[in-house]
Amino acid sequence: VRVFFLESFIMVRQIWEQYLSSAPEQWREYVVMCPCGHQLRVRLCDYIDAAVSPDLKEDLLQNRLNRIRCDECGRDAPVEKKFIYCDVQQLFIAQCYPVNDLSHWPHYEQQLTDTLRKVGNAENEGQMCRLVFGQEALREKVRIRNAGLDDAAVEILKAAYYSQSDFQTYHLQAVWFSGIDSEKKALNMTVADRFTSKAELTYQYPVADYAEPMKSVLNDVENPLRIVTRGVFISLDKLLTRTDFGIRWPVTVQQ
Ligand SMILES: [Zn+2]
Repeated sequence: VRVFFLESFIMVRQIWEQYLSSAPEQWREYVVMCPCGHQLRVRLCDYIDAAVSPDLKEDLLQNRLNRIRCDECGRDAPVEKKFIYCDVQQLFIAQCYPVNDLSHWPHYEQQLTDTLRKVGNAENEGQMCRLVFGQEALREKVRIRNAGLDDAAVEILKAAYYSQSDFQTYHLQAVWFSGIDSEKKALNMTVADRFTSKAELTYQYPVADYAEPMKSVLNDVENPLRIVTRGVFISLDKLLTRTDFGIRWPVTVQQ
């Protein structure tokens, strides 16, 4: 069964490469404008193959990937850019776009869905194919996949957090799955400032029933959160993103 998954997954990966990144060079040189106005020539990663380059996966998880260090103002900041992440061992592939493109998610989700349709229904074969916006969102999906969790259920847990506060909180605070507490058998959910990424608090949710909130959402045909659990873009942002979503990251690459 595993071999079948793997073969089918590699086919999905090849088709992604063909449609989304015609020649997946791992590194390319880009000209990036630092917020201070200085132009920098930097080598940035376009494609991570986690099985071939576990060190790049680690760089991504530690937020060391695709950063600029400006020799004019000294700024050290991550660069948001489009790239593909692929992990054959985890049967996980993700198309990552800059976080500033978030408001265009319907277009990108359609594009990716059409691509996947060309190789049949990849989701049914134990694979995880995702659209994400921003490196932080990708890091979270990688952690979720490593922990063997259902990312849709994790997103619904976040909704439970926001439902206890006002809507403004969503614009100021991001909630991320940050790992499993194996001793307490709990999911660690970290609340961070959206602008500084500084973690403010961590709350825990028992692993045993983390999917229960999602089940009740899916049982309620009127619940607007159902949209969050569908498609290749599994994110609470799908429901809560508005055109005035006011978050802009300072360093991005246009492609
Ligand atoms: Zn600078």
